[in-house]
Amino acid sequence: MASEDDHFLPNKIGRILLLSLEEVIGHNGVNAALNVAGLPDLIHSYPPNTLDREFSFSAVGRIHQALDRLYGTRAGRGLALRTGRASFKHALREFGPMLGMTELPYRLLPLPMKLKSGLEGTAELLNRYTDQIVHLEEAPEAYRFHLDLCPLCWGRRLDQPGCHLAIGFLQEGLSWMSGGKNFLVEETDCAARGDAACVLRIVRQPLD
Ligand SMILES: [Zn+2]
Repeated sequence: MASEDDHFLPNKIGRILLLSLEEVIGHNGVNAALNVAGLPDLIHSYPPNTLDREFSFSAVGRIHQALDRLYGTRAGRGLALRTGRASFKHALREFGPMLGMTELPYRLLPLPMKLKSGLEGTAELLNRYTDQIVHLEEAPEAYRFHLDLCPLCWGRRLDQPGCHLAIGFLQEGLSWMSGGKNFLVEETDCAARGDAACVLRIVRQPLD
């Protein structure tokens, strides 16, 4: 399943991905996606809720690709965005306490500090617990979230940026951090298109 140059996420994150996907396309939908992705062994055995790095980037890339193959590019994009949004609440429950994001001092920070601290914490967490290499770049009007190694498009070749799940995850995270505001998040660069990294641009000023 995993090639030699593959990288890994903790089982816990693979589990969150499949549980979130199930909320969006149902149990049968997940089974179909795992079959199309060539990962039928996962159908009746989701990864355990552990931090062992055993869930491969290539599996994530194939599951993301399976959405496009099953539902078409346009609908697949929407489903990936929704799966990303659904995954935030699982991630918050599993990782939020480690980041202090569910504590009162965090919740009392002014909005710009909350966003900066939440995005930096997310980057640190991904660097610490996954094989991803992530950093946050700050421009005056926007943050740029760089994924130098991205599981979502691992092994894929695309004409357009395709890591929609990450966009949905960040949109939901920013909404939670800001008490329900919407932010523009777009993928400006994508490794699957031949760019050096996947880059998500987050406009600082909320849309509403
Ligand atoms: Zn990517």
